[in-house]
Amino acid sequence: MGEELRIKDLRVVFSAEQIAARVREVAAQVDACYGEETLVVVCVLKGGFVFFSDLVRCLQNRNVELDFVRLASYGKSDVSSGHVIFSKDVESDISGKHVLIVEDIVDSGRSMRFLLDQFAARRPRSLRLATLVDKHERRQNTVKADFIGFSLERGFIVGYGLDYAERFRALPGVYEIIPE
Ligand code: 5GP
Ligand code: MG
Repeated sequence: MGEELRIKDLRVVFSAEQIAARVREVAAQVDACYGEETLVVVCVLKGGFVFFSDLVRCLQNRNVELDFVRLASYGKSDVSSGHVIFSKDVESDISGKHVLIVEDIVDSGRSMRFLLDQFAARRPRSLRLATLVDKHERRQNTVKADFIGFSLERGFIVGYGLDYAERFRALPGVYEIIPE
């Protein structure tokens, strides 16, 4: 991120309590979808880590395996560019398995288009996407999440895993930055 943003305040967009309630509902949807089938849940680092850890601990399914990817995209950190790469791939073989990707926020959709295409080529038994926030305004493709925590039209949010230049990931709720 180039210029330094001067932060005046943080406005609550989704409180910790609201998120906890919604995560339980999303977990119930995931359980209804997979039952006790073996499921590989893949966290998209870094931003997905809080949603991922809360979500997997709400699942009733006892046949859940966990794995992690990290994506890098070139360009400004608040607008992902066209070029996405793995900076860390999963360590398990996902072919023939049910796979659920867990992401913090889908914005333009470029990061998830890359990951869904990469994973689909490995022939999983099924491939779905869960995102804490589905942000519509800048969507540039047909990426659609199967499980959505919250929908947001626009705005830049932080907290609950989401950062601004690596700050605010540890905040318990989701906030909008009010610039000075
Ligand atoms: P996409 O490839 O869908 O454009 O971008 C997805 C990534 O951009 C997210 O995983 C996240 O890292 C970042 N991003 C997009 N919108 C926001 C936002 O409102 N706040 C934060 N902190 N990151 C965002
Ligand atoms: Mg992300």
